[in-house]
Amino acid sequence: MDRIMSCKEHIEEALDDAVYGGFKLPVLKAFFPVDKQNHKCAYCEESPIYVVENEYSPTI
Ligand SMILES: [Zn+2]
Repeated sequence: MDRIMSCKEHIEEALDDAVYGGFKLPVLKAFFPVDKQNHKCAYCEESPIYVVENEYSPTI
């Protein structure tokens, strides 16, 4: 997994999990769900409004 979605309550958890999950360069971005039914926070049932993605590229 190279992205973790989070509601506004669970940003800290998402960032911690990104670091512990091996993300070399976790970046927090706003997330705009196209289909809310298919997306929810990784920690609760809320709609996510943030996503942590791994921006690390081995070529840099
Ligand atoms: Zn949540």
